[in-house]
Amino acid sequence: MKDKIKILLAAPRGFCAGVDRAIQIVEQALERFGAPVYVRHEIVHNRHVVDALRKKGAVFVEELDEIPANHNTRPVIFSAHGVPKKVPEQAEALNMFYIDATCPLVSKVHREAERHYKNGAHIILIGHRHHPEVAGTMGQLPDGAVTLVETIEDIDNLAAVLNDKPLAYVTQTTLSVDDTADIIRLLQTRFPDIKAPAREDICYATTNRQEAVKIIAPQVDVMLVIGAPNSSNSNRLVEVALNYGAEKATLIEKAADIDWSMLVRAGSIGLTAGASAPEILVRQVIDALSERFDVSVEEVTLREEDVTFKLPRVLLG
Ligand code: SF4
Repeated sequence: MKDKIKILLAAPRGFCAGVDRAIQIVEQALERFGAPVYVRHEIVHNRHVVDALRKKGAVFVEELDEIPANHNTRPVIFSAHGVPKKVPEQAEALNMFYIDATCPLVSKVHREAERHYKNGAHIILIGHRHHPEVAGTMGQLPDGAVTLVETIEDIDNLAAVLNDKPLAYVTQTTLSVDDTADIIRLLQTRFPDIKAPAREDICYATTNRQEAVKIIAPQVDVMLVIGAPNSSNSNRLVEVALNYGAEKATLIEKAADIDWSMLVRAGSIGLTAGASAPEILVRQVIDALSERFDVSVEEVTLREEDVTFKLPRVLLG
């Protein structure tokens, strides 16, 4: 007889509107213009998605100079994370036809940073140094215009790099809501006049997925988060689960990554997926669990999401 195990399945989970749009952009571009379509950087941070698009004819590169010089009748697509301004400039100089799949919520942060800069402010960007979204946001403005803050400790060193310009902050869209609130609180204490974004930069999808985990984590022995190791929002879900009471929490890319030793004597498992992980991976994890355990699944719904973003005009009509 199989041991019983209860799965609390987080909702919302998985694909957000920005990821969905970015994938559609690549698929539509392949349909309209034929293969190969080049994509700068992984369109979204998920190997399953990238491999599926590669099979359809997408070619992933890290920089534009990896693309053959005569590739100018089919598009080059920029990833959902956003790109520094110099990238579209380079594409234009190379006479490339490009489509920007930057999530509109990332573009909003770019415009915000630009607006504050035009108003004379120095920009503090709260984010993770090696994430492409941070490179994209910093690259909207000239060198030296933006200072990156990753941790509370970085705030102590800020005074040394700041001049007497007014300050404004923006954030990466996929951060921990709680950790970012701590950083913002300290920034506002140290720099009471610092300008805040008109609307929260951490996006609805990041916030909702974290809130859903906060509800489930205290009720489960183990939390499984489906997502890629380089997916910022997925890694944050693991941290949130541990901070909110899950005894164990781990990131897995797919069912085959499940560490079964973690599940010994676990009566309940929380399951969620980062914003770039497709639902099929969730189903495969439930199937794998069902092979070993007598599984019952309860979906815990925080709220419904109905956000969608339009495709770029070049792919419409
Ligand atoms: Fe856009 Fe948020 Fe999805 Fe990033 S996680 S692509 S900001 S909706």
